[in-house]
Amino acid sequence: MASEKYDVVIVGGGPAGTMAGAAAASEGVRTLVLERDSTFGIPVRCGEGVGVNQLERFFAVDEKYVAARIKGLYMHSPDGTEVPVVSSEIGLVLERTRFDRWLAEFAALSGAQLRTRCEVDGLVTDNGSVRGIYFTRFGKRHKVSADVVIAADGVDSRVARWAGIPTQLKPADFESAYQFMLAGVDEEPGSCHFFFGNDIAPGGYIWIFPKGDKVANVGIGVSSKLCDGGTAYRKLKEFVRKRWGEPAVISEAAGGVPVARPVRQPVRDGMIVAGDAARHTNPLTGGGISAALIGGHHAGKVAAGAVKNGDVTSNGLKEYMSRIDKDIVKANLRAYRLKEGVYKLSDKAFNRTAHQIMALPAHKHTLRNVFLRGLVSQPKLMVDVIKAFV
Ligand SMILES: Cc1cc2nc3c(=O)[nH]c(=O)nc-3n(C[C@H](O)[C@H](O)[C@H](O)COP(=O)(O)OP(=O)(O)OC[C@H]3O[C@@H](n4cnc5c(N)ncnc54)[C@H](O)[C@@H]3O)c2cc1C
Repeated sequence: MASEKYDVVIVGGGPAGTMAGAAAASEGVRTLVLERDSTFGIPVRCGEGVGVNQLERFFAVDEKYVAARIKGLYMHSPDGTEVPVVSSEIGLVLERTRFDRWLAEFAALSGAQLRTRCEVDGLVTDNGSVRGIYFTRFGKRHKVSADVVIAADGVDSRVARWAGIPTQLKPADFESAYQFMLAGVDEEPGSCHFFFGNDIAPGGYIWIFPKGDKVANVGIGVSSKLCDGGTAYRKLKEFVRKRWGEPAVISEAAGGVPVARPVRQPVRDGMIVAGDAARHTNPLTGGGISAALIGGHHAGKVAAGAVKNGDVTSNGLKEYMSRIDKDIVKANLRAYRLKEGVYKLSDKAFNRTAHQIMALPAHKHTLRNVFLRGLVSQPKLMVDVIKAFV
């Protein structure tokens, strides 16, 4: 079996993995990113919406991966009331194929080695500590020894589980998502829409993210606790037919979204878990790109520091926990409580909230006010709302 040695090896070439690769390599440690697919960024399983600020924290936005800029946000209640929401945040609809490829190049330019078509299928361990990985490429098994393994293998992560980190999700903490990229849909460019209702999308919502030139991502997430496998597809089809008839479908994607509390201990001797694998997606919105970038960045920096300090035990890697606690975990636990509150709302409560907001002057149509009014019957959540939407 072919064998190599790196300081840090990263499993998965999504935003968490390539960001970890860039962060570790830029510290001067030998870093390898392994991706099972043949191209970074393909297939796309994503609505591609993200806030500009969340990218600018790490790099200047490059127009080459931006499909559209979003300035308007509209929420739709079950009875069809459209609420324009004021938001200071500017959103982007990405071209994930280009964005993920750009991130891979960013990691490479930072000094990381990257390889595609490498299916990681086992861990090298020694007395319970992680010491590397095995991967298979074209039927041939390889071994990579490493001081730190970063598991960034996405929602279906197996790598963390191999190290004994529990990442299983209960149905209530998992959304089944389906998305069409549609062409020929006449939606106002720069405006995104969210549709709520227990019949429209049980335990979730439908989104429209226009990408320009009459192309839009139209997707749905539904709670796996409330729905069987085919519901997301059927509900989305129905929605599309009602709104546009039979528009051309450019691509379709199905996928899972963790809407869970973050993994409690995403660190073991010789291992860090980041991104969807660590359940870092925002449980209220299902958005996970920014948390993948943040978690990947911290994972790479902490892994490199631990290698240099000569302590890659869970103690040597624990700085990762404090970094993500501040940047991801606290906010996600709050979002998780809010998600639980929103799931309990009846269609009547959604409609009442929409009517109350529409009775306010336009500048008061903020997300904070939407949640304050929507969750008024659950006073315990008011502090969370105030902290979440400062
Ligand atoms: C339908 C849908 C819509 C979404 N819309 C949005 C949105 O609009 N905005 C947003 O912010 N988030 C959205 N998300 C979530 C977002 O896509 C994820 O949170 C984000 O991609 C997580 O990044 P990641 O790097 O952790 O994982 P991923 O992007 O999933 O990357 C993991 C990578 O690991 C690779 N891999 C897995 N196992 C192995 C292995 N054994 N060996 C080698 N490689 C492996 C995979 O091929 C993959 O490339 C959406 C998700 C879905 C399903």
